Amino acid sequence: MSKKEELQKLQEKMEADETLPLRAPDINLVFGVGDPNAKILMVGESPGYWENLKREPFVGNAGKFLDQLLRSIEMPRESVYITNVVHHRPPENRDPLPEEMSAYGKYLDEMIKIIDPEVIVTLGRYSMGKFLPTAKISSAHGKLFRVNWNNKDLFIIPMYHPAASLRNGEVMRQEKEDFLRLPDALKKIVEEKKKIVPKSEQMGLL
Ligand code: URA
Repeated sequence: MSKKEELQKLQEKMEADETLPLRAPDINLVFGVGDPNAKILMVGESPGYWENLKREPFVGNAGKFLDQLLRSIEMPRESVYITNVVHHRPPENRDPLPEEMSAYGKYLDEMIKIIDPEVIVTLGRYSMGKFLPTAKISSAHGKLFRVNWNNKDLFIIPMYHPAASLRNGEVMRQEKEDFLRLPDALKKIVEEKKKIVPKSEQMGLL
């Protein structure tokens, strides 16, 4: 089965899962979008108004800024895969709760297994917290981490949430800089993967 077919099957499983806590009559599943063979998996927080309407992650103002960041490194939206830690819009766009993160988390883990990206770019605190629970976004942003996740080494680069950049000029400046370093980080990761040692540690690469 191709990755595209595996993702389609996973999406159908999610659609049918009545235990997902944020399911509601007017709420759509926002599964993910992009290239199933992408080297970069971007994980945001949760769908908002526009994402729920269009059933696609990052299509509102934060999404437009994310597209701009991706264009700045010549990696258009279609060349990466984009999803969230929670795949239904929370009421009034509130932050996801820990039990919601864990209910949707098992599907995100499946997605990671299928896509098998070279690097996961987390967008904001919630998605960073899934992989790096003790990290602080103000010091971790733009750095490369290696974590052992479900017995597999994952490379994680936390980034600020694009919506945070839209609210704060200094955060935006830093996020633009962090993105510009992503292509080189990706090259480094591919090199590192050739000599992998399973261990949870931060790599002083960036
Ligand atoms: N913010 C997110 O975290 N995810 C989206 O899909 C949209 C906005």
